Amino acid sequence: MGLKVYIDGKLIDKEDAKISVFDHGFLYGDGVFEGIRAYNGKVFKMKEHLDRLWHSAAAIELTVPISKEQFSAAIEATLKDNNLRDSYIRAIVTRGIGSLGLNPWTCKGASVVIITDSIKLYPQEYYEKGLSVITVSTVRNHPNALDPRIKSLNYLNNILAKIEGLNAGVEEAIMLNCQGYVAECTGDNIFIVDRGRIVTPPTSAGILEGITRDVVMELAASRGVAAEERNLTRYDLFTADECFLTGTAAELIPVVKIDGRILGNGKPGPITMQLLQDFRKLTTG
Ligand code: PMP
Repeated sequence: MGLKVYIDGKLIDKEDAKISVFDHGFLYGDGVFEGIRAYNGKVFKMKEHLDRLWHSAAAIELTVPISKEQFSAAIEATLKDNNLRDSYIRAIVTRGIGSLGLNPWTCKGASVVIITDSIKLYPQEYYEKGLSVITVSTVRNHPNALDPRIKSLNYLNNILAKIEGLNAGVEEAIMLNCQGYVAECTGDNIFIVDRGRIVTPPTSAGILEGITRDVVMELAASRGVAAEERNLTRYDLFTADECFLTGTAAELIPVVKIDGRILGNGKPGPITMQLLQDFRKLTTG
């Protein structure tokens, strides 16, 4: 039996799961989404993801056509139908079918799509040896233009940064904001370890308020490791004792090199590895 995709209340074969070319999600990136994980049959941080989805939708004046309870039930049903216990889940709300103009009010109603798939994990080597990343010249969207807190279907800002990274031979790229402070990576938040504290840019730096980021700060607190949100510059990155990225797909991934400069002793640091272990225990324990 092939994979089924949820579209507006129906489970449809992957091959037939299609959205109209007149959908404003396709035409303009007018819509919002979430990337969620299920571990061992349980959706991780369902409430937090749905809350963020609803906030993203509210920020673009998009009404999600079903309730949070219905959305949650739809995710569970899609996972069940696909017989998936460990999965990457993509939840999408698009503006829907409208005329060719920008006006979203021509759209007849939002569509809900839920794709569940087996997860393609990052190679284990990244977690053991750490990633090499670079800072790129593509500036993160200014919050007054398109707030990075909105997880919208328009990811071109991140894709342009990703291309810069890929062209330079790295997997992830660090984006700075308009003031030159560190914002986040193309699909991950960033932390450094500075004198025993974990430090990450504040929401006001123009970032997605990552759910993994919050979880990691809680895990640090329960270990007695202080967590601080403050603006970081490239100086802070280059002089950090440790660095790691957080995201639903990556979980918590160590960084050992930034812009060709080796951090610390060039190996994933002890606080990073402890938090990674704690995170894995939380998700699979
Ligand atoms: N920043 C961006 C731009 C992202 O796309 C993601 C992935 N959703 C993150 C950060 C990490 O967020 P989360 O931990 O909620 O997956």
